Formats: sequence, structure tokens, C-alpha cells
Amino acid sequence: MTGFRNLFDREPDGRWAAPGRVNLIGEHVDYAEGLCLPFAIAERTVVEVGARTDGRVRLQSAAEGEGWEGALDAIGPGSPAGWAGYAAGVLWALREAGHSVGGIDLLVSETVPLGAGLSSSAALECATALAVNDLFGLALDRRELAAACIRAENDVVGASTGGMDQAASLLSTAGHALLLDTRDGSTRQVPFAPADDGLRVLVIDTRVRHHLADGQYGERRAAVEKAAATLGLHSLRDATLRDLDALDGEPLRRARHVVTEIARVREAVALLDDGRLQDIGPLLDASHTSLAKDFEVSCRELDLACETARASGAFGARMVGGGFGGSAIALVPVSRVDDVATSVRDAFTAEGLRQPEIRRADPSEGAHRL
Ligand code: ADP
Ligand code: MG
Repeated sequence: MTGFRNLFDREPDGRWAAPGRVNLIGEHVDYAEGLCLPFAIAERTVVEVGARTDGRVRLQSAAEGEGWEGALDAIGPGSPAGWAGYAAGVLWALREAGHSVGGIDLLVSETVPLGAGLSSSAALECATALAVNDLFGLALDRRELAAACIRAENDVVGASTGGMDQAASLLSTAGHALLLDTRDGSTRQVPFAPADDGLRVLVIDTRVRHHLADGQYGERRAAVEKAAATLGLHSLRDATLRDLDALDGEPLRRARHVVTEIARVREAVALLDDGRLQDIGPLLDASHTSLAKDFEVSCRELDLACETARASGAFGARMVGGGFGGSAIALVPVSRVDDVATSVRDAFTAEGLRQPEIRRADPSEGAHRL
């Protein structure tokens, strides 16, 4: 891929970066108005952008072969198809919200790894939104930009996204995790700097995605909403374990995951506020057990990654994301990072599984102009 100048025969007006994210705890609770605790990571997407005055849009990415070119008016639900929808969709969503936006030339020159569960899609949207906000003098705050990014992904790309990824990319600050209340979108910065305590978060990407993932996601979401309705509640957000006495069997187990997971987020935040980062390990383990046993969204590879990480020195480990594959995270003393990584790789080899990809995830700053 050639540079901006060769592609567009001009210079960009600037460069904007937006990070990927990892969710520390609070999984499968966003559709129950729950709490989650993501943090931005060092991996980032960078867009080089130049404003245009003729309403044309030209998009290119070093990570994808085919670019897109069209008029602003040609952007809408389903158009453009493919990756360009994530960037173009932001322009559409901002216009839909009544903002005056012109055309752009945009090159994605650096990227969060795609499809690794680190939210490359939100990073692309958020970098684009920040660029457009600056170039057209929109003066929108980051919550408004996040809303446009969510709308782009939901309506133009047609992928359902709850908003955690966009909030994490735009609102995170270095050395913190972002407590996000999905009931009202409110956020709070919670101290989270593992390196200061000699710790590191590892992301273990199993590189498997089981075909049942999509259907099962819808089934879980429906089960959680049905449990709330059975209990006469708007959501499970305010349900207590005692409330769940009215349920049994599978509905009870699904609801119990949500109720206990929201409680674990609160406990983790209290520990982090108290400077007791290392003590969140058991909460990560309990989150995994709940996702595996009550919510039944884990799989052999995720269980193996977590068990092996713990056995070789991690303070805690859990699957992250939708489940049935994807990634796990582990909280590991820096002195044990190599042991944990080697043990996990060896365990996968011994079971005849594909080699996982293991990275560090360091809490980093949110989107910004370079
Ligand atoms: P994740 O967000 O977890 O990485 P998604 O499936 O939500 O996975 O988003 C990945 C998609 O986002 C890619 O398939 C591509 O369409 C788009 N995308 C993300 N980053 C880029 C990039 N740098 N260049 C082009 N497209 C990208
Ligand atoms: Mg995504």
C-alpha cells in the first residue's frame, strides 16, 4: 500500500489515532443494563485524513485490498458494503444527527489487529469521528462522537454493538479502566495500572471461532430478557440473588450469571479504588466459571487457556467477549509472563490445538490527534 500522497495526490490535513480495548470484567451484561470495565490498549488505528469541499469520499486501508469512492449522499444503511462502511458510516451518522460534514480523503495507515476481539471496528470508527469533528469544526463532545460511531456500526454496517467498544476507545485515559454503566451511558475513570504493581494483563487469542457463536448470542440475550420479564423487572440490573428464587433450571443459571457478574464488577471497582489490583484475580476466575457453567458460552480452548495460565502463575484468568472462541485474559506477575505464555502454548500443542496468539494489554490513553 502506498502512502496518502501517492493515493490521493495531495497531503493529509492531519492524523488521528484511536485504540482498541480489552474488557477487564463485566461480560454478557450489557443487554441487562449492567456494568462493564474496559480499558484502552496500546494497539491503535491511525487514519490520515484530508477534507474535501466537493462532497466526495475516498477511503483506502493498508489492511484491506479494495478502497471505496463515492458521494456523501451514496452512504446509508448497507452502503458502502464491507470495511468502508465503518468509516463512511460515521459521516452518515453525523449528517443524520444534523451536522454539516463535507467529503474526505482517508487512509487507514496503522491498525488494531482485525477480528482478534480487540475491537478494530470501533477503533476505525472513533479515529474517523475524531478527524471529522476536527476538520469540519463540529465541536462535538466524545459522547456525541461515540453515539455516531455506534449508529454507523449498527445502521450502516448492520452489526449489533452495544457501545462499550466506542466508549472505551474515545473516553479511556492512560492508567485507568473505564467503568461504564450501560443503563445510562455514564462513565467513571477507575485507577488501573498493573505495571505499577509488577503485574501485566495478557490477552490469549485462541484463534478459534466456533460456528455456533452467532445463534447462541441471540439465544442468551433472549434468555436474559425473558428472565427479567418473568420476574416483572425491566432488566436484571437491579435483581438480587434472592429475586432469582422464582426461577429454576436454565433460566435461573442464565440470570444468575448476569446478577453475579454485575456484583463482581462492583467488587473489582472497589478493590481498584482501594489500590488492591492483585486481589481482583479471584473475581476474574469467578467470572470465567460463571460464563462457563451458568451462561455456557466458554469452550475447550478458552477453558484450557485460563486453567493453564492460573496453574503457571496467573493471579486470575477469564474468557472475554461473546465466547465460543476468541480471547481470554490473564492477570500475571511480570516475573511469570514468560512461564505463562510458554505453558499455554505447550498445553495447546499437547492437545493438538492451533497455536494461540499471546499479547500484552497495557492500559493506554483514548483517541487523540497525532
Ligand atoms: P473486531 O472489532 O473485534 O476487531 P469486528 O468484526 O467487529 O472485529 O470488526 C472487524 C472489521 O472491521 C474488519 O473485518 C473490517 O471490515 C473493519 N476494519 C477494522 N479495522 C480496519 C482497518 N484498519 N482497515 C479496514 N477495515 C478495518
Ligand atoms: Mg468490533
